[in-house]
Amino acid sequence: MSSKGEQAVRRVVIAGGGTAGWTAAAALVRQLGALLDITLVESDAIGTVGVGEATIPTFRTFHALIGVDEREFMRETKATFKLGISFEDWDRLGERYIHPFGEVGKSTWMGDFQHMWLMAKDRGEAGELGDYCFEHVAARAGKFAVAEGSKINYAYHLDAGMYAKYLRGKFSPMGINRIEGKIDQVEQDGESGYVTALVLEDGTRVEGDLFVDCTGFRGLLIEQTLEAGYEDWRHWLPTDSALAVQTENAGSTPPYTRAMARSSGWQWRIPLQHRVGNGLVFCSRYQDEDPAREELLGNLEGEPLTEPRLIRYVTGRRRRAWVKNVVALGLSSGFLEPLESTSIHLIQIGVMRLIQLFPFDGNFEALATRYNAKSEAEFENVRDFIILHYTLTRRDDTPFWRHCRDMTIPDSLAARIELFQESGCVYPAAEELFKVTSWLFVMMGQGVMPHHYHHMGALLGDQRLNRALGSLKANIAAAVDKMPTHQVFIDRYCRAP
Ligand code: FAD
Repeated sequence: MSSKGEQAVRRVVIAGGGTAGWTAAAALVRQLGALLDITLVESDAIGTVGVGEATIPTFRTFHALIGVDEREFMRETKATFKLGISFEDWDRLGERYIHPFGEVGKSTWMGDFQHMWLMAKDRGEAGELGDYCFEHVAARAGKFAVAEGSKINYAYHLDAGMYAKYLRGKFSPMGINRIEGKIDQVEQDGESGYVTALVLEDGTRVEGDLFVDCTGFRGLLIEQTLEAGYEDWRHWLPTDSALAVQTENAGSTPPYTRAMARSSGWQWRIPLQHRVGNGLVFCSRYQDEDPAREELLGNLEGEPLTEPRLIRYVTGRRRRAWVKNVVALGLSSGFLEPLESTSIHLIQIGVMRLIQLFPFDGNFEALATRYNAKSEAEFENVRDFIILHYTLTRRDDTPFWRHCRDMTIPDSLAARIELFQESGCVYPAAEELFKVTSWLFVMMGQGVMPHHYHHMGALLGDQRLNRALGSLKANIAAAVDKMPTHQVFIDRYCRAP
């Protein structure tokens, strides 16, 4: 089936115009635009969730796919660069570690770098693990630079509201029919239950063959119409509320996100070019809204520019993200708290998978089964990695942290922690989002040290092992030394052409 007129699925209707809606629209028009008629419906009256978002390096892969120019994107969304996340007070009060992007040291097929480092450390010959990771050292020094051919691994902090507008301005002219209006009804075929049209408040009918539900937490099509079901994960991730507030930029623009543990949750600090996004994620079972607001406002750098905005959520996953001819993306497909900045990534990977599994001939069912299985695995992998931060805490100063320390965790995660403790091995599956470096820094950052390790370092001999580690550390330090500060680089890089 190759010519446009013969396809069973040609009219794609995207419901919702937040980050999810415009990300889906941009990718679909850019990749399959010649084969589809794309309409996006959004309501200015309802608005979007954007709070000042942090991302992960896969964001750049997605931008390469849809053809986004980095300087233009950074100027339009007031973005800054991100090399990792600084976790403060998570293990014990007063302690801090950085989870960097990029890789630590050099691994071989036999085993990963940490085995050599652990051996050298046992002999008193190694520096801190972070000294062997370029992004870690640069983040600590507040430095940043991208150069042609540079291998630095990074992501961005951005203003999600501006990002949706940027995508709309750039990709609408490529063939997206945008309709402003509130969806009032969802029409279904009486026999099959497939969605046939959205009816807006002013009576406009928007017909389609495939519908992408990007309506946010409400899940207008996937849940309110098709009742896909929701798996509630609050027993493992108990936070259920966030207060978000913007502050002026008080002069500190580190190239990393800060995640600062508080009495019943944690606080984020996301530096943008023009302001700073802040918020407190907390658990309403342990903290009411007023004390949470007080805790947030009492811990801000810089004057608030807005009133704190309360967002309630239920951590978990839509049981099926694709049902009949509706695919949910973004908040309508589930929500994992932003501790590792994964929501926008899950939108991007979701739309890429939809493009790979696109049901051109109306062959929905087999493709939906595959899509849903992958989506489930992705959500669960991210979920386990986020739980890791909570379960490893050694804090016992509040009921919330005692609960986190003592709660039962998924067997898959317990097995992984035990493997690391016993052997120094991490061994993530190839398709997992978080690789060895991520698991290493969080586990060691929160006090898990392996009892044993692989003896691959002994094959080198003491002298060569020490020389290899010493020169790696010195080369990284020298390279970072030459880099400009993050702020200087942004000022230069984002200047209008
Ligand atoms: P929304 O932004 O809610 O958009 C919904 C859209 O649907 C809107 O356009 C609305 O107008 C439209 N709509 C709804 N109902 C109707 C209707 N009846 N008729 C017409 N239109 C309708 N992600 C990250 O990657 N990194 C982070 O650091 C991060 N931090 C976050 C912090 C918090 C506290 C929260 C809650 C989320 C965070 N996220 C983060 C998630 C991120 O904000 C969202 O994943 C992302 O913005 C996508 O939202 P969305 O487009 O799915 O929903």
